[in-house]
Amino acid sequence: MSPLHPQVPPMPIKVEPLLYSICDYQFPNNPTCRKCGTEEETSVHILCECEVLASLKHTYLGSCFLDPEDIRVLGVRAIWNFVKVTGLL
Ligand SMILES: [Zn+2]
Repeated sequence: MSPLHPQVPPMPIKVEPLLYSICDYQFPNNPTCRKCGTEEETSVHILCECEVLASLKHTYLGSCFLDPEDIRVLGVRAIWNFVKVTGLL
């Protein structure tokens, strides 16, 4: 065994499914919106179109459905507060 490359014992098989689950959770391969499941989860969809988030958008951004141009005038704090409560971070 080389001192520069110590042999790492193989990972127990029982741990691998948990690691795969964590990776899938943090880096989803599926781009579908995690809230509505109908559209691609883009910033425009989340901020402007997602019907499941309409009530939160009304509360935090002032309207249930926004136009992308409306986003330009919103403050960063309002967008940040909205995104935090969506649970998407
Ligand atoms: Zn959605």
